[in-house]
Amino acid sequence: MSKNSGKNLQNNLSRRQFVKTSACAVCFALAASAFSFKAFASTAVTAKVKPPVPKSVPFPVRKPIPPKYIVIDAGHGGKDPGAIGVKGTHEKIVTLDISKKIASILEKQDSFVVKLTRDNDTYLSLKDRVQIARSYNADLFISIHADSAPNKKASGLSIYTLSEEASDDFAKKLAETENRADVIENILGLQLENKNVSSILMDMTAKHTRNTAKQAKMSIIQSLNKKWDLFDSPAKSANFAVLRAPEIPSILIETGFLSNIKDEQILTQAAQRKKIAELLAQSVMNIPVLKV
Ligand SMILES: [Zn+2]
Repeated sequence: MSKNSGKNLQNNLSRRQFVKTSACAVCFALAASAFSFKAFASTAVTAKVKPPVPKSVPFPVRKPIPPKYIVIDAGHGGKDPGAIGVKGTHEKIVTLDISKKIASILEKQDSFVVKLTRDNDTYLSLKDRVQIARSYNADLFISIHADSAPNKKASGLSIYTLSEEASDDFAKKLAETENRADVIENILGLQLENKNVSSILMDMTAKHTRNTAKQAKMSIIQSLNKKWDLFDSPAKSANFAVLRAPEIPSILIETGFLSNIKDEQILTQAAQRKKIAELLAQSVMNIPVLKV
């Protein structure tokens, strides 16, 4: 599959563009009728002729809008159960269920194409997960997890992005390897021979990706505020391997702590998993950079 083949244009039109296009049509129609009136006024002096009937104005050609690609990654799976709760809940079961529910809500939206890294209990390496996001050139990669901590009182949802240090370091390392060309080609569709140019582009891309991920993180936290129990300081950053694709804005959501009895109880209830999936799906729709 070619790098961007997943992003075939669809003939759906965003509401914003529809309004814009409609506004143009209205302006065009007004301009046309004003012109007709002017022509009539100048001829009315010399002869009593009927004003020309305005012809119907052709609607401007609509430009297709590409949908946004969201890759949802259910953490762990197969031989890797992830965190194990106080009452024995396996993280991989919780993450798969929530991920599938988020995907089923988002894929009903014309403006999104949603892909899951796994839709059953299989094992995927962290590298595989990142590679799947990159193969779709995703606009956002969301890895779903449930936390565990030695402090049994720790509870609530938190969202991670790649730490600045880790991001810079990774971009630097990547810029020194052959992968650099791969990344640049994935983002810009360019094959660059000049190492300095591609290094600068790599750096800029990593920064832009990190900022977009941060914006997504803060936007989701804002959307969830007072609707779901959040960790004391829910916006976090860490050096997670699954967040390292330099051109894909990536976030990792810890939906709660399986090491906390109350959180585990919440995450084992299907109705509560449905609720958090609905809240997260709505929060993703509210992310400004994903609005078309
Ligand atoms: Zn996990």
